[in-house]
Amino acid sequence: MTKCHIVQDLLPHYIDGLVSAETETDIDRHLQECDACRTLHAKLSVPIENAASQTDKKEIDFLKKVRKKTVKKMLAGFAVIVLIFASLTYFLAIGSPVSKEDLVFTTYVVGDDWRIDLELTNDKALLVRTEPIYGEKNSSGVRPVVGFLVKPYQVLPSPILEADNKSFMFGSPIKSFTELDHKVVLRLGNDDIVFTSDNYDKPQP
Ligand SMILES: [Zn+2]
Repeated sequence: MTKCHIVQDLLPHYIDGLVSAETETDIDRHLQECDACRTLHAKLSVPIENAASQTDKKEIDFLKKVRKKTVKKMLAGFAVIVLIFASLTYFLAIGSPVSKEDLVFTTYVVGDDWRIDLELTNDKALLVRTEPIYGEKNSSGVRPVVGFLVKPYQVLPSPILEADNKSFMFGSPIKSFTELDHKVVLRLGNDDIVFTSDNYDKPQP
C-alpha cells in the first residue's frame, strides 16, 4: 500500500497529469481507499479553479473601477474644458466693463465732427461696443435714434485682435448734438458719462 505522505507529495503533479501511468494507477487506488488523501486531493483540485475565477472577478472589478474612474475623469475633463472655454471667451471675447480708473478719455472737435478717444491704462486690451439708443415711439410708430451708447470692455490682450487694441475712437457729427439733440453715453463699469448738446464741447475732467 502506498504511503500517505508519498501520495500527498505527488498530488500536485498527479493533478497536473505529470506522473507516470503506474504512479497514477497507484494514486487512483490509494485515493479510493484513503479518506485523508481523497479530501486533500479534492481541496487541491478545487481551489485552483476558484483562485482562477477569483482572479478573473478581481480583474473584472478592476476594469469596472477603471471604467468608472475613466468616465469620472472624462466628465471632470469635460467640465474643465467648458470652464476654460467659458473663461477664455469671457477674458478674450466678452470682457468685463472698464472702470473709470482704468480709462483715459479725451473729447475734441475736428471740423464738423465730435470725437472721443478712449485709452485703456491697465495693460488689458480694449474692446468697445457701440449701439444706438432708441427713444419713445413717435407718431408714426417708429422709435427714433436719440443717441449712441459707447461701452468699453477690457479683455486679455490677444494676438487675434488688432495690434493696437488699447485705444478706440468714436466720432459723431456735431449736428447730431446741435440739431438732433442726440446724446452719447460712455458706459463705464461704475459710471455713465453723458455727452449732450450742453456739454459735448466742454472739456471733460
Ligand atoms: Zn492516504
